[in-house]
Amino acid sequence: MSCTPLLNQAVEIASAYFERRDSFPVFPHITPEQLRQAFGAGRPVPERGQAAEQVIAELARTAELGLVAHTGPRYFGFVIGGSLPVATAADWLTSAWDQNSGLYATSPAASVVEEVAAAWLLELLDLPRNASVGFVTGCGMANFTGLAAARHYVLRKAGWDVELDGLNGAPRINIILGEEAHVTVHTALRMLGLGTRAVKNVPTDEQGRMVPSELVKVLKTCSGPTIVCAQAGNVNTGSFDPLEDITAATREAGAWLHVDAAFGLWAAVSDELRHLVAGVEHADSWATDGHKWLNVPYDCGLIICAHPEAHRAAMTVTAAYLVQSDKERDPFEWTPEFSRRGRGFTVYAAIKHLGRSGVRDMVERCCVRARQMADLLRKHPSVEILNDVVLNQVLVRFKNSDDFTRTVIKRVQQDGTCWLGGTTWHNMAAMRISISNWATTEKDIQLSAQAILRAASTVAAGSRMAASVL
Ligand SMILES: *Cc1c(COP(=O)(O)O)cnc(C)c1O
Repeated sequence: MSCTPLLNQAVEIASAYFERRDSFPVFPHITPEQLRQAFGAGRPVPERGQAAEQVIAELARTAELGLVAHTGPRYFGFVIGGSLPVATAADWLTSAWDQNSGLYATSPAASVVEEVAAAWLLELLDLPRNASVGFVTGCGMANFTGLAAARHYVLRKAGWDVELDGLNGAPRINIILGEEAHVTVHTALRMLGLGTRAVKNVPTDEQGRMVPSELVKVLKTCSGPTIVCAQAGNVNTGSFDPLEDITAATREAGAWLHVDAAFGLWAAVSDELRHLVAGVEHADSWATDGHKWLNVPYDCGLIICAHPEAHRAAMTVTAAYLVQSDKERDPFEWTPEFSRRGRGFTVYAAIKHLGRSGVRDMVERCCVRARQMADLLRKHPSVEILNDVVLNQVLVRFKNSDDFTRTVIKRVQQDGTCWLGGTTWHNMAAMRISISNWATTEKDIQLSAQAILRAASTVAAGSRMAASVL
């Protein structure tokens, strides 16, 4: 049976979705109960199957009730990149080809495309050209993989083989994080058997940056195997730990430096922004995302490691049945997963389509839009911008009030022009705006700023009325 009609149907549905995406609220107006009902929750597994065309048509109709316009230009929640059309197309092909990309022997194309994409990434991000690169599910898994390589390396230096002997009886590892370390770093430490209780936290400044003099103090309390984890791009403020000072201090102490740089690492592609990551190239491992700022579809994280042997030793298994090739890249050697999709295709397509200048423009454009948003909002007397807008993140507070700020956020979310979330920054409620999508235009920022200020006025009018009734 030909699969052409079905695939064409999917193309038509997806194209129609893209066309209509902007006419819907960015976040759907639907309850979980309505969605459960639409998907037929509680009904038993159907005894007899249904025609594929019908399944796809119904799936699309139902799913669309609860879809969020992540690919649209006015989704500013969390740090969620959009998706370049070329990357979406490459992703479809990746699914159609369905390559098991673990080994060169299972897919020469998937292996070599990763090799080429990896080399391009190192060039774009200006990291050591002999670093190893693994294509994982996201930056969380990249943190896990980088810290696994670190664990291997610092313990081997101490005469311990953690892959063979585990952590029972192993020399103790000092783990040093900035106070603002991302939650996935903590998850990684748990999964690696290192735990989080003994972590030594380094104080951060008002923008969330690790204070290097404090790091030096903490390093002085440590002897033996030591891993430091710094951050490039704080999820709230977009700020960067001062990496030049941090790399100098960790080198001096003989510690491993891992940098969690899910979106911040992309500052390296821009002459204007590169100063933010100055010194980053001296780290030992870097975790970043393709699905955030490179705007490839989910899921795509990247782990880059300056010590390929440590990276490989931490991830590799050998089983007699594995046809491993001596020369060619076996992608599974660089990731925790074994069988997996060919994540190199989308990265390759995105970089090939944009070129160095296109990647740079996309990153710089997002930062320009973030400043534009901050400037438009700042004009309003009730608004305070809490962060230095050095990158693509804007933190907004209204009337210096937690309640007011939270109510405005809810109101904006209901309005549907744009979507953004709330956060707590230094014990204050704040609205968090992240501009990480290639498609966001100046006009989108204007429309969204208007919607936000409109929401603030409505909430203010509401509370005045409530006050007068009282
Ligand atoms: C998003 C993010 C992560 C987690 O990345 P995922 O791709 O969601 O796994 C880790 N660290 C930072 C700084 C992030 O912004």
